[in-house]
Amino acid sequence: MSLIEGGCRCGAVRYTLALDALPRTYACHCRDCQTWSGSAFSQQTFLPEAALNVTGLLAVFEMRYPSDRVSTQRMCGVCHTRIYNTNSARPGVVVVRAGTLDRSDELEVVAHIWVKRKQPWLTLPEGVPAWPEGAPAAELMGVLAPR
Ligand SMILES: [Zn+2]
Ligand SMILES: [Zn+2]
Repeated sequence: MSLIEGGCRCGAVRYTLALDALPRTYACHCRDCQTWSGSAFSQQTFLPEAALNVTGLLAVFEMRYPSDRVSTQRMCGVCHTRIYNTNSARPGVVVVRAGTLDRSDELEVVAHIWVKRKQPWLTLPEGVPAWPEGAPAAELMGVLAPR
């Protein structure tokens, strides 16, 4: 098992992923992700919480949705780069911001969700699974599962 590493912009937070290979990632084009990221979409991946090991001080922000589910966002405590989040609806799973990986240039995007909110100038490659809104978690995790 080779260590896969990442971190924030300022270097105060670093993390390792205990995985055999770079994780497969997906893009979420929802409005929330556009606002959170200040960009057109967020690129992220689901991982078991035990695979993630973070060093450095994290700032925590809890967002409660009308459904009562709580999304807990973790940012670098110094530069506030978003690193990962958990969600009360998916215990034991972390959603890592894939752009914080040191080898982000080698990542594959294997699925797109919330494409009805996709920016119109962005053309998705053919043959990559896409959902108009959120994908059922089991289907998305199936697409993201290591090959
Ligand atoms: Zn930082
Ligand atoms: Zn989103």
